[in-house]
Amino acid sequence: MGNDSNAMEASGLRSELGAAPDFIVVGAKYNLPGDSPVYDSTLNDSGIVRTHPILPVPLLLFIQLGPSAFETENKLATTWIHETIHLQQGRSIIRKIVAGNALYEQHVANVTDLSTISESDKDSIMDWINGETIAYKAELESLSLTCISSSELAEINQQLAEFTGIQNEMY
Ligand SMILES: [Zn+2]
Repeated sequence: MGNDSNAMEASGLRSELGAAPDFIVVGAKYNLPGDSPVYDSTLNDSGIVRTHPILPVPLLLFIQLGPSAFETENKLATTWIHETIHLQQGRSIIRKIVAGNALYEQHVANVTDLSTISESDKDSIMDWINGETIAYKAELESLSLTCISSSELAEINQQLAEFTGIQNEMY
């Protein structure tokens, strides 16, 4: 078929020209799963999983990627892999992750001693930590595929270390 080699050539050309990588090229080159993500130029996050904006049945989830995911092809690939984990986790776990993150931010804003919060708050924060840890670990397991830079790798390890720190504060 030659699709992969065409994709690589096209991608090499794009890199030379300094243009942002595109989904189809990167999806083919890294053999990434599922449908192409949707680009949102206004997204602050590098990536997020959203529900379908039009279909009335709130079941369809899709990946949306923002400008910071497009710094390099490698960054795009690793962000795509991270968000694919969230996509597979599904709506109920995604909601728990969002709720746990919001609760944590609220406690941080209130300068709460995390060891004193309720068990249910701790459980909720752990839903966030566990859900995100799986996604970050998938990125680490894909290093040989994505070849992300040492600074991008350091960001992942820093995030995982922060999760460990939060757990230590709570328990
Ligand atoms: Zn995530």
